[in-house]
Amino acid sequence: MSTRRQFIQSVPAVGTAFAVAGHLVLNESPAQAQEPTPLKGHFHPKGKAPSKFTLDVLKQAKANLPFADKRDFEEQQRGLIAAMKDRKIMADAGHVAWDMERFQFLNERTEFDSIHPSLLRQSVLNNNYGLYEVIPGIYQVRGFDLSDISFVRGKTGWIVFDPLVTAETARAAWKLFQEHVGEGLPVSAIIYSHTHVDHWGGVRGIVHEADVRSGRIPVIAPIDFMEHTISENVYAGNAMNRRLFYQYGLLLPASPHGYVGQGLGQAVSAGATGLIAPSRYVEAAIEEFDVDGVKMIFQNTPNTEAPREMNTYIPEMKALWMAENVIASLHNIYTLRGAPVRDPLNWSKYISQALYRFGLEAEVLFASHHWPRWGNDRVQEVLRGQRDLYANMNNQVLHLANQGVTINQIHNVYEVPKGLQAKWFCRGYHGSPEHNSRGVIQRYLGFWDCNPTTLIPLSPGDSAPLYVEMMGGAKKIIARGRKLHNQGKYLLAQEIVNKLVQAEPQNQAAKDLLADIFEQIGYQQENPGLRNSFLAGAYELRTGIPQGETADSSSPDVIRAMSTELFLNFLGIRMDSRKAEGMRFTINLITPDNGEKFLIEMENATLTNIAGFQAKSPNLTLTINRSDLEQTMAGAKTLEAQIADGTAKVEGDASILKQLASTFVDFDPRFEIMPGTKSRTLEVVTADPYEAVPRPNIAE
Ligand SMILES: [Zn+2]
Repeated sequence: MSTRRQFIQSVPAVGTAFAVAGHLVLNESPAQAQEPTPLKGHFHPKGKAPSKFTLDVLKQAKANLPFADKRDFEEQQRGLIAAMKDRKIMADAGHVAWDMERFQFLNERTEFDSIHPSLLRQSVLNNNYGLYEVIPGIYQVRGFDLSDISFVRGKTGWIVFDPLVTAETARAAWKLFQEHVGEGLPVSAIIYSHTHVDHWGGVRGIVHEADVRSGRIPVIAPIDFMEHTISENVYAGNAMNRRLFYQYGLLLPASPHGYVGQGLGQAVSAGATGLIAPSRYVEAAIEEFDVDGVKMIFQNTPNTEAPREMNTYIPEMKALWMAENVIASLHNIYTLRGAPVRDPLNWSKYISQALYRFGLEAEVLFASHHWPRWGNDRVQEVLRGQRDLYANMNNQVLHLANQGVTINQIHNVYEVPKGLQAKWFCRGYHGSPEHNSRGVIQRYLGFWDCNPTTLIPLSPGDSAPLYVEMMGGAKKIIARGRKLHNQGKYLLAQEIVNKLVQAEPQNQAAKDLLADIFEQIGYQQENPGLRNSFLAGAYELRTGIPQGETADSSSPDVIRAMSTELFLNFLGIRMDSRKAEGMRFTINLITPDNGEKFLIEMENATLTNIAGFQAKSPNLTLTINRSDLEQTMAGAKTLEAQIADGTAKVEGDASILKQLASTFVDFDPRFEIMPGTKSRTLEVVTADPYEAVPRPNIAE
């Protein structure tokens, strides 16, 4: 188990990479041999300045953006009670959990030639860092994490909405709040607006679980919260976490040529994540009840920004909490780290319902990211704009698809209506119109553009050599690629140079040129996910996949929240079919303490399970309490040890467990994305076979 943990810990995980970005240069990288003179102020020795073409694109963008509208800045500053003095918040484990120091450069100049002016503006807005009054009785601490934490005055204490990602930042927020406003009153209730970790992960920083279990502090969440809270990140978790290196730019230092924030907030904190299960669920579409003496109306909004989410209206304060359904940005329909594509029409309709149920009278709108909106006119403007943004994207992308525009063209054809483009809160700081429009087609029509050539194509590495040969070889491609690059035709340049990199993964000159091309495309992006992805691609092409360190590990709370069925399903994914040819057995699994039974079957090199069933004559019956099984899932005690000391009971052929274990594979969280970037031979380390190895939950 310890070896497994070390292996996992050698990879930077969500939010922690920043603290260690300085360690991440590979000494053995072949890239180190022919270093050009580094660009002053660039974090990478091969980094380039923005070209005159990139400068033109950014200048043009600036001229066309609604900079005269400064309301966001007024709203972002309004109600400041106290700025947070310490720019760093330490983790209990000793490292830096949160660091606002590294974003101060954004305030030092009004323009950076390597940052899109609209993205810069958003990142400067996200540099707010302190305690704010929303209205008397409602307060927010902003800038302590990717998300905001909100406090609403109840009869006996404070009702907390969305306690950040980690215990350390939530605790620091609570402390600042108590120093100025809290009057020493306790937390009287917690509300989780939705299933993403930036809305619950810090809960242990502000309440004790015993107070929740005793009923003193209710924890309220939308129905099916627990089922959806971890399921989104388990099955494809390793792939999603690798992809986060691109979407969230985890290896890029905060700098004008690197990471400049995440749009939703500056970053994800790197402390301890925990989860206390809710004690009360909002089940109906609309439910009204008192929370610590405050009347609240909850609106469930399933399958919007998250699989389960809810808005809340507080009528006596005329305050509307829009969770993450309405923020100061276009959100992701398709998220680049990977997730099932969201339903923009459904999302739009829930915003519309919120508008007509609450928004016609609400005087303030606040949410779990960004800053509030005051006055009914402004509340309605924002709700209506966001409603139309998601509806338009759904309807007009399909309008075009119905005329033959494909997933490979739509991002070049679909445009957000001009009126919405002129609203800052409809611009793409999380979703972009480009990747979201492709997502809408993916949702309805899938990946295929209906051209048979793209139906079962060769893998890129297999088709590339022919292209390279036909184009006259590497030298010619590099010469033409450089020419296109020098003409500012970056999208054309990447087409041919990528083919060369695919065909010749060890051609460092090709990788360096592709990195230069990616970098210019990255600088030109308004959307941080697109920017980060291009800059991350450039980074890995230049340096190789780095080795970092991180203090992150899986939270026992998350293991507890994983259902046995989810765990068994995941074993079916970890199992390598090729190792299971010819195996055939049936296992009855019984977990007496929670009354569950499963029939697990290996047949046709496929591992299946079905809840509530038992085989009549199984090869093996395994009986273990669910609470003990969790020890094995967490890697704390092997299944073998459970059987040896009698905690687990087996009847039948116990050697089947060994046989099954021999088919499990540990997923490598450092798999290669760009060819030729895996610069070290990776150790193969075996986990305890039945360890669940969940990846960290993904903040969004
Ligand atoms: Zn969020």
